Amino acid sequence: MGMIICEKHGLSGFCTVCIHLFEGLETTWVAFPEFPGTTLTKVCAHCAEKSNLSELNHLKGMTFDDQLNMSEDAFEKQLEIIGEKHRQITTKSICILCYDELQVMHHRKSSLPDPFPVYENTLVYQDRNQVKQLEDYLKTHFTFPKFRYSIFHQGQPDKSAIQVSRGNIRKPLSIDVYYITEHGQQQQLIQLVDTFFERIAKKQRLIRFYEKEDVICKTLPNGGHSQERREGNVLREVEIK
Ligand SMILES: [Zn+2]
Ligand SMILES: [Zn+2]
Repeated sequence: MGMIICEKHGLSGFCTVCIHLFEGLETTWVAFPEFPGTTLTKVCAHCAEKSNLSELNHLKGMTFDDQLNMSEDAFEKQLEIIGEKHRQITTKSICILCYDELQVMHHRKSSLPDPFPVYENTLVYQDRNQVKQLEDYLKTHFTFPKFRYSIFHQGQPDKSAIQVSRGNIRKPLSIDVYYITEHGQQQQLIQLVDTFFERIAKKQRLIRFYEKEDVICKTLPNGGHSQERREGNVLREVEIK
């Protein structure tokens, strides 16, 4: 997936939508079949009809591997046909999170239930100063254990075993802490977070206490080492919805 720098969401993946979906004039969409080397594209029913999108239906039954294994000629021909269809439609590339917001807007406009659980009251990219303040506040008021594996403390020179990640429309701001296993200490940290959020309007947040970092270490054939991160064991989870 290509990347785009969105003013609202920062560095994100992107997809392409027809101008009618983008402007909210149409709310039901049809997806172009996925094909290697093409962008994820969704268009309104009119644009799908105008470009005879159904001619690509045979691609939907194919796996990514099937598609890659087509003969070179057939593959190139297919790319050409897809490109031709794209040229018949006025499109706009938008970031994946902008697309998610658009989807929610479309659903609500059509009085449909939200397409996924929506977080609208959480600190996001645009609140990154507050997210940074939260992290600094916690670090100055609490002594954290240290991360032991570089895969976790990369970009975190002090190695404190905490990760604060901003939220977006699909997930709340999250505070992940490691090696704090004692209930009283967990309580102390939860209290600190609550205190910080007293002056913050967007309250949705998720605190997770992990037993430890979960890493698989491997020795490579050349003698080097690799680390692979796994979703570790959560001891306790506190969510403010
Ligand atoms: Zn359209
Ligand atoms: Zn965006």
